[in-house]
Amino acid sequence: MEGKSSGIHHCSLRPVPNSLRGLFPATIIFFAYLFIQGCSPKTRICTYTVYNWNVNKKMAVNFRTVRRPYRELSSDEIGATGCTVCSEDQKLINIPPLEPFRVCRKMATKIRKTLQRLVDEGEPIFEMAGYRVGRTRNPVDGQGNRMGFSNHSYGIAIDINPELNGLYDNCVEFGPHCRLIRGDHWRPGVPGSIEPNGRIVEAMESIGLKWGGEIEGKQKDFMHFSPTGY
Ligand SMILES: [Zn+2]
Repeated sequence: MEGKSSGIHHCSLRPVPNSLRGLFPATIIFFAYLFIQGCSPKTRICTYTVYNWNVNKKMAVNFRTVRRPYRELSSDEIGATGCTVCSEDQKLINIPPLEPFRVCRKMATKIRKTLQRLVDEGEPIFEMAGYRVGRTRNPVDGQGNRMGFSNHSYGIAIDINPELNGLYDNCVEFGPHCRLIRGDHWRPGVPGSIEPNGRIVEAMESIGLKWGGEIEGKQKDFMHFSPTGY
């Protein structure tokens, strides 16, 4: 057995001088760290702030900022429409006197032009929201945190006048039994409230956005427009 291990003593590499010995591992670790962190100048970084909706606490929890190279994004962060959850892929829409809001840059021109036209025509639009990243959809994990991204997370959904166009649960058909869970009550007939076949719904449908007031299922989201209505 002893004879077999003698081969390893024939290695002829010179030993690293004592003064440099400590430096090599540190240098390798440093470059490995840069590589892992995506710090090479060509690496594009994605950043977004996200929360989970907790179904037990009925509140948003786990607010955190995520920062990672685009090449490491998961398929749910990338999305199915070409709009990611990254803030870098969002564009600011500024239509005074509305507060500026952000949407996916692929949809920004259509949304800006359509809204500008509605505002110019005197349509009462007071408040807008677009991009906000939240895991507010199923599935739910063991702690009650929802794990699926909403369509707002990709900047492909917008909300119009939430104070007149609430989001309701327990609402397969709209009626007094529906439970308001966001915004304030829907009041069709009041200026700024969104109505079936109204000018806002018609304008949004013309750019491929469906209204959340007409979706199937338990929720009716009267402020909300997205490619699916959800
Ligand atoms: Zn919405």
